Amino acid sequence: MLPTRPRIASLTGYVPGEQPQEPGWTKLNTNENPYPPSPRVREAIERALGRLAIYPDPLGTAFRRAAAELLGVDPDWILPANGSDEVLTLLLRTFVDPGEVVAYPYPSYILYETLAEIQGGEGVRLPLREDWSWDKAACAAILPRVKLLLVPNPNSPSGNLWDDETLLQFVPPKGVLVLDEAYRDFADAPRDLRPLWDHPAGRRIIVTRTLSKSYSLAGLRLGFAVAAPEVIAELRKVKDSYNCDALSLAGGEAALRDQDWMRGNCERIRATRRRLEERLRQLEFSVVPSQANFVWATHPSGRHRDLYEQLKSRRILVRLMRFSGAFGSTAETPYDGLRITVGTDAEIDHLLRELESILQRIGSSP
Ligand code: PMP
Repeated sequence: MLPTRPRIASLTGYVPGEQPQEPGWTKLNTNENPYPPSPRVREAIERALGRLAIYPDPLGTAFRRAAAELLGVDPDWILPANGSDEVLTLLLRTFVDPGEVVAYPYPSYILYETLAEIQGGEGVRLPLREDWSWDKAACAAILPRVKLLLVPNPNSPSGNLWDDETLLQFVPPKGVLVLDEAYRDFADAPRDLRPLWDHPAGRRIIVTRTLSKSYSLAGLRLGFAVAAPEVIAELRKVKDSYNCDALSLAGGEAALRDQDWMRGNCERIRATRRRLEERLRQLEFSVVPSQANFVWATHPSGRHRDLYEQLKSRRILVRLMRFSGAFGSTAETPYDGLRITVGTDAEIDHLLRELESILQRIGSSP
């Protein structure tokens, strides 16, 4: 027997979406951007290649300056990390002692639950209503015990966006509220973070961002936290000295400094998203109006696994997601659906053509 910590031995572990390494797939399962990053990223990385023999800047000063300018805060408010997933890990390690409560809406990003388990925290699901709204009464009882409340906004898998007014009601009185804004750049309305900092609990609000989605840099691994300097100072004590490498810091800074490129790609994705939602509804799917670069679709037949598998046999990957216990479902018959990343127009047309033909066959089979 390995002397593993018991909670790790019994952990299933978070399973990310499939990443086939061979070409030929239409990949609509892990919310990557179908468009390339700004050409300035490559130039910056090429320049940084000349400095690989020395350690990177442990604080990522140049990157922090770019992020700070963009968001209208001081650079002391920014902490870069190896993807926003690393920011989440740092938050757990910084704020949560064994037995303390980590809460998150459910269904949402399943990694939160895994991170809470690894840390030895008590993971608590805050059940959302079927229209993806918050059940205030259900939250009220637990909030006083919450150390860390993690909220993806836009949410995953649903893609809906909650307004600040709604979420600010849930700042835990003795904990911190983390707004995971991995997909925020895809929303129709631009984001102004300043009202958050002006809120009476503003010093206990943390926003996380990533360059994986809107900046087309999932392979580079760079994300960051935005929070009051005293929060950032605590996170710095916990992070590895060199948690971000020289290439990602250089590429990430260049990407942030080319906002026109990022915004242009988001606009194209929004246009394709509208078309995808409309067409899925014509195919009788229920689709949550999305503010992200994916849509959540459920079909009245309930045959999501069949649809997923048949698409996969045609080399199209979407994400089949199951949430046991959500909306009154059971472990045997969990609530499920398909999360479909918004690809290029050509990819989405291909998906829709294949989906239509599969649905016709499913419709005529017993
Ligand atoms: N938050 C949410 C809600 C996500 O879906 C993802 C992507 N899986 C992340 C954070 C992490 O993204 P990254 O580590 O690439 O920044």
